[in-house]
Amino acid sequence: MSKVKGCETVKVVVRCRPLNRKEAAAAGAPGIPGGGGGIVEMDVRLGQVVLRNPRAPPGEPQKTFTFDSVYDASSKQRDLYEETVRPLIDSVLDGFNGTIFAYGQTGTGKTYTMQGAWLDPERRGVIPNAFEHVFTQISRSPADRQYLIRASYLEIYREEIRDLLDHNVQSGHGPNSHGHSARSLDLRENPESGVYVRDLTSCVCRSVKEVEEVMNLGNQARSVGATDMNEHSSRSHTLFLLTVECSQAGLDGQQHIRVGRLNLVDLAGSERQAKTGVHGERLKEAAKINLSLSALGNVISALADGRSGHVPYRDSKLTRLLQDSLGGNARTVMVATLGPAPQHYEETLTTLRYANRAK
Ligand code: ADP
Ligand code: MG
Repeated sequence: MSKVKGCETVKVVVRCRPLNRKEAAAAGAPGIPGGGGGIVEMDVRLGQVVLRNPRAPPGEPQKTFTFDSVYDASSKQRDLYEETVRPLIDSVLDGFNGTIFAYGQTGTGKTYTMQGAWLDPERRGVIPNAFEHVFTQISRSPADRQYLIRASYLEIYREEIRDLLDHNVQSGHGPNSHGHSARSLDLRENPESGVYVRDLTSCVCRSVKEVEEVMNLGNQARSVGATDMNEHSSRSHTLFLLTVECSQAGLDGQQHIRVGRLNLVDLAGSERQAKTGVHGERLKEAAKINLSLSALGNVISALADGRSGHVPYRDSKLTRLLQDSLGGNARTVMVATLGPAPQHYEETLTTLRYANRAK
């Protein structure tokens, strides 16, 4: 079995969504700073992003960043999947762990990239494409291999882990006034299975359809009790976890089991949360989001540098939970999403800097 080479373990790509109708109208309107279209330009061949500061005087140098790949506004879901995601899914089928993150400001296409529209082949995102591939590969595998696929779905909100497939939450016992289940699950560790979430529900899935049902169930649970769903989803990380277990008779006549784990993570919005006038609970919440995103950045950047000596996994729930899937033989893909509108210049620059540090 080939080992994943150091340079391939972390892949960072950037995707820019098209201007939406409102932004396009504003950009075309006279008197709007940075009017005349988007501020993000990409050279897909070179993997480069050029960001134009809408308030800079003419002639000031623009900022250029280079990534493993870049996906411009005309890119298709399928392009990103085939080129960037599929090799990782194949390694999970071979028994390795892999993680895909979507990182970016709210409204830039994290959920579109990860989920998209399940039923529309053009707009189907990473998750449905990945499952399509997993089940196709399984159906083509030699008859002596048996696969077991299990899915879990959770969110991390204010550094608390909530099971989205727990039916107590479904039936409405769970949510409190903060819009999340009263029950927060604990992280545990044991020598065999590594770090895991205690009492987390896992559902056996036999087809893409069944995975989709599990996902829908979890998405419903998310919205239960959330007073403002948009706000809630921009403040929590969601993790869809898939375990692929393959058992096969070895030359010694014994059954051998390989387990690969796939983590699909739609991160909380990266925008600066702590605006003036925010205090008390809201400020604490904002601080926790900032902390967990920066902890993730620190872990990925330590791994990308090959500084495996000290990787600060313990600094947040998210990095601790994913500890066994980041580094070592595991592969990581970070998709940083951008919007092209001039009014988001600062946030877009922050996203590019974060992604740049991670590669
Ligand atoms: P986020 O999850 O980062 O908050 P969403 O995925 O909800 O953002 O995207 C915001 C809006 O932009 C949605 O209406 C989505 O359909 C649209 N969108 C995002 N990315 C793209 C894209 N690459 N092509 C077309 N529409 C997109
Ligand atoms: Mg989203």
